[in-house]
Amino acid sequence: MRVGTGFDIHKLVEGRPLILGGVTIPCDRGLFGHSDGDALTHAIIDALLGAACLGDIGTHFPPGDEKYAGANSLDLLNHVLDLLAGKMLYVSHVDATIICETPKMSPHYEAMRGNLSKAMRIAMDQISVKATTMEKIGPIGEGQAIACQAVALVQSQM
Ligand code: MG
Repeated sequence: MRVGTGFDIHKLVEGRPLILGGVTIPCDRGLFGHSDGDALTHAIIDALLGAACLGDIGTHFPPGDEKYAGANSLDLLNHVLDLLAGKMLYVSHVDATIICETPKMSPHYEAMRGNLSKAMRIAMDQISVKATTMEKIGPIGEGQAIACQAVALVQSQM
């Protein structure tokens, strides 16, 4: 068994859709980023790459690369699964936390888990998504950003 952790934070700005776990969440602002800004999927990608000792998301998908402008992060996650499979590594479980003041994330957990499980080729009960607030403290608590963290357990056989 191998374990990896991932963390990501993106600024909340006007004029962008809010996409987390591939779900577009109704909100007056969205996450700034070179790709679709999906911080949840990015944190999971880094957790998987960490478990596989394959560097980080920036190694594989450089932020300045035009190829990844507006990229669907679920496609990037799907590509990371190919990298793991190339090392005979398979996802056993992922647990992720969204750190966000508003909007409420719980109505979207199921859809996020559905998208993420498909991209990772695992069952819904192998991916957990939950959320917490910062109790209005600091930049996340003031709604300037959303952060996500993830832990991934990866095994060397199916
Ligand atoms: Mg990111």
